Amino acid sequence: MSALDKHQMKFFDKILRIQTKKPVEIVDITSQISQLVQESKINKGIAIVYSPHTTTALIINENEPGLIKDIEGAVKDIVPWGKNYAHNAIDNNAPSHIVGSFLGNSLNLIISKGNLELGTWQSIFFVELDGPRSRKVLVRIVGE
Ligand code: ZN
Repeated sequence: MSALDKHQMKFFDKILRIQTKKPVEIVDITSQISQLVQESKINKGIAIVYSPHTTTALIINENEPGLIKDIEGAVKDIVPWGKNYAHNAIDNNAPSHIVGSFLGNSLNLIISKGNLELGTWQSIFFVELDGPRSRKVLVRIVGE
């Protein structure tokens, strides 16, 4: 018997649905992701949180209302939104794509003792960059 036989790898998949309400909006999804980790019954593993969209992002930071406002503001300042972008000829949302690609669309989270290893001040956020829209976030939890 190899060492691998003693470990039964489990997979748990879920899709979160998020309805955004603003053009740029930061949505705290920490409690939903934690809930899925509980449901998965996986003690030790990783959670991959993935957004299958081109004008959204996923980030981890502090859920402090002033800071959320600041990040939403910075998202609008990071590139000039009024510029004449090539992509705007077919779809008027080039800045949403650019900021989305800068921030990234997936997160890897560590699970230990059945819980997410998040720092005291860390929360998980979905970032809408071209809302309001109906969005989804794919979650795959792998471990034992
Ligand atoms: Zn576009």
